[in-house]
Amino acid sequence: MDGAMQVSQTQLELANDVLNTMEQGILVWSADGVCQLHNQRIYEILELEPDDIYVGLTRQQFRDRAEKRGEMTAEDRKWSEARIRISKPYAIDRKLPSGRVVLTNARPARGGSYVVTFTDVTEARRAATELAEAKSAAEAARAEAEDILSLERARQTEARLISQLDEWLQSCKSLDELFVIVTRFMERLLPGSKGELYIYSNSRDVLDGMCHWNTHDLHSTIAPDSCWALRRGRTYEYDSKEICFICDHVEDHHHQVTLSEYICVPIVAHGDTVGLLHIRFDGSGVGGVQLHDASQFAVRCGEHISMAIANVKLRDELHDQSIRDPLTGLYNRRYFMDAVRRQISVAERKKLTFGIITFDADNFKMFNDNHGHDAGDMVLRALGAAVLETLGKVAVCARVGGEEFAVLLPDADLPQTLRAAETLREAVASVQVRYLDGCLPQVTISAGVSTYPTCGELPQHLLRRADEALYLAKENGRNCVKSVTNA
Ligand code: GH3
Ligand code: MG
Ligand code: MG
Repeated sequence: MDGAMQVSQTQLELANDVLNTMEQGILVWSADGVCQLHNQRIYEILELEPDDIYVGLTRQQFRDRAEKRGEMTAEDRKWSEARIRISKPYAIDRKLPSGRVVLTNARPARGGSYVVTFTDVTEARRAATELAEAKSAAEAARAEAEDILSLERARQTEARLISQLDEWLQSCKSLDELFVIVTRFMERLLPGSKGELYIYSNSRDVLDGMCHWNTHDLHSTIAPDSCWALRRGRTYEYDSKEICFICDHVEDHHHQVTLSEYICVPIVAHGDTVGLLHIRFDGSGVGGVQLHDASQFAVRCGEHISMAIANVKLRDELHDQSIRDPLTGLYNRRYFMDAVRRQISVAERKKLTFGIITFDADNFKMFNDNHGHDAGDMVLRALGAAVLETLGKVAVCARVGGEEFAVLLPDADLPQTLRAAETLREAVASVQVRYLDGCLPQVTISAGVSTYPTCGELPQHLLRRADEALYLAKENGRNCVKSVTNA
């Protein structure tokens, strides 16, 4: 008996030594939650005094202190107590007042008791936190790199689209062609947007709607002062979330319903505002692009469209200058001769006739002498306006010399050409020209007529025959119409 006791005592001491040399704190709870055994290390690990933990201490007292010291959250306590009720192991981290972290690992043992180990895991947890932080930093860096990359890709796509747009715009021959290209491109460049392009009319009192995409409510005209961009001379971004005012030309259409954002970009060519690009974004983004980026992009498109319009206009103006007479706005002699040449080839092919009228102001030298050159110029302008009004729709009208004019009447035979010349003569005879404070005396014209192919098959022949007829008209007392064939 004694021997057995002796062995048992030795074993107990050994067990006690083992418990005390362990790095972990150890505690055994009885089935009814009373401390039955613990090692010495537990004081150090849990930063407690020998009075705090002793055989007989209840788990409730132990846990109350832990909760009070903020080592254990109420949630952890609740959860672990639920585990104890069903005799399951549990593990929770305690954060000690010093900042150290202690892993509490509890395992059910024989007869409903629990063996709990307390391990200092401060370093391990710190390493884990650092690792997690490093991972998330790496993830953030990767995401940032991806953002930069996708931004760069978007920029490249944008640059490619704009250069395509440019290439097409540069090959435009006319504004009409340009408007078709703008429509097609803007549909692709800003999907989900709706847009309209307006160009100032010649009188500059209104802007005419030229083309539109993804919308059918293009205004035929808008007033310049109905747009904040035109009034302020710079791009106007309307954002319903900011303090902004809707342009009248927009409000007109939408009666303030569901209008979210739009921009108006003035189209500026060589320093002059020539039009307006209006783009609406109904929604938060445009084809996945942020609204701000979309409007920036739209502004850039506007700049490129402006350049192209400027170029086409400049080309048109230069072309116009090369074919028109600046005083009357009628075609010049060179253009007229080309037109006759073209008409000859058409008429030859289709076996058609056409007429030529030349006319000249009567006694104009005297008129100039009596009233001055400026008054004479006024009359010449009035003659130009009269011929355009009477025959402009069907004929090519030109000022071919000082006070000499010529008209090409396609598809007309001799009687029709004579009638047209007579109508013109009558129209001129009734023109009143206002000058200074009063009206200038009436000016009349004499006209000669020739027709293709009877009078010749070359432009200069047709013109000469008409001039011969004109000479006859002068001989015949002026203010009349003649043709060589009926002279
Ligand atoms: P006729 O009835 O025979 O044609 O007599 P006319 O005096 O008109 O004679 P002619 O056609 O030879 O006269 C041409 C005159 O037209 C000479 C010039 O004073 C005037 N003239 C020519 N070009 C211009 C112009 O650009 N402006 C003005 N004001 N007068 C011009
Ligand atoms: Mg003359
Ligand atoms: Mg004359």
